Amino acid sequence: MINSYDYSIMRFLADPIYGYRDIVHAQKKTEISSRAEDFESLCKISNTIEGINDPYEAARVSVKLSKKYPLSNNMNIVNANFLEEDTFDKNPAKLIENEIAVNIEKPYDGDIACCTPSCNNFSINRSHSIQKSKILSTIVDKKYSVYQTKNMPFEGGKFLKKVGWKNASTFPGFCESCEHLMFKDSEKSNPSLDRDTLGKLIWRAICFTRYRRAVEIKNRALVVSKPDSYLVGNEFDNFMVPFSSALILKNRIATFKNLDKWISEFESANFGKKSKYEFLLLELDFAPFVGAGVAPIHYDFTGKMIQSAGRFNTPIQHFTFTSFISNNKSYFVFCWKKSDFICKKFMNQLMGTDLNLLSSFIPQIIIGNSDTVYVSPDWWDNKSNSVDKHILLHSFLMQFSYMVFPWWGPVKGIRINKFFHV
Ligand SMILES: [Zn+2]
Repeated sequence: MINSYDYSIMRFLADPIYGYRDIVHAQKKTEISSRAEDFESLCKISNTIEGINDPYEAARVSVKLSKKYPLSNNMNIVNANFLEEDTFDKNPAKLIENEIAVNIEKPYDGDIACCTPSCNNFSINRSHSIQKSKILSTIVDKKYSVYQTKNMPFEGGKFLKKVGWKNASTFPGFCESCEHLMFKDSEKSNPSLDRDTLGKLIWRAICFTRYRRAVEIKNRALVVSKPDSYLVGNEFDNFMVPFSSALILKNRIATFKNLDKWISEFESANFGKKSKYEFLLLELDFAPFVGAGVAPIHYDFTGKMIQSAGRFNTPIQHFTFTSFISNNKSYFVFCWKKSDFICKKFMNQLMGTDLNLLSSFIPQIIIGNSDTVYVSPDWWDNKSNSVDKHILLHSFLMQFSYMVFPWWGPVKGIRINKFFHV
């Protein structure tokens, strides 16, 4: 999957936050000259949105500006042929990317709109992206901590860190009233498995992802437009570092555009209640990890590419998903638009898959497509074996789900009992 010629850049870009995981055609090689134009446009976009505080506004202005300063159609990345070995292990590159990472994780300072498009209130600072205490309480240790996948790409060593469950998975999502009214049912210990409740759970997952992309666009633009990045390039004698950081901005603009559209359509459809959306539930007795996110579908279960990832202006069909618990059963719920034929094809394949095989694909689908995943410390430290750990790490580093390594079997403790449509 990772070719040696582009190992350094692929390892860097495969990271869930920095990676080109959302939209990329990694195999395609293009000459650097064909990207010079994009770099200039991205710098112009960055300079314009530098002064906009609100990340959603900055991201939307970026989307608009990408038409004014046309970005080329291809979503290609900087090829590692242009990079010296270990570029991203060295300090100057770490500085740029770590600064962006820290800013995405920072609690938001200032007023930011509630994610419900029709609501005019400001959000509270700490909305949960997944079912609050219910789902996390199934995986906490005695000190009420969980493992979280690290967002800092260069911290090295282990890829998990311990966090208190109260701090897990929060973002400035919704205002007080939306928070209480919309998620009343989904926060119960036995939320109903109907479209209304599932739609709200999905809504949270996608709003969370959109928020993170907006903040990243804003922060990446700040870095790109700052003289610091040029100084870093100078010092390092390699301008590929700020250059690749800028090109990731292009990817994030495309992703934000997709998510923003999906969110407004989903709200207009009464949060998925209308029949134009489909929901699929996977039921398990226990899930040792939980997460929420957006999964662009590029490869099917046979490893065939079913949706090109290389075009900037082509919307990518994706499904959204989240974890929750109801009546002591763990669930992963998937939601997609009925008219998205690629999603339909993918889901039909999924439903035709044997339950044991499907169980082994779960880490790739969930961990490979979530910004952050929470893992049970007890499971990780005491119950999982080295192959299980390896599978989780692999899934974490994937650019996007390739549906590989099912022959390793499901990780210990993961067993899908059944799946059903709602
Ligand atoms: Zn609201």
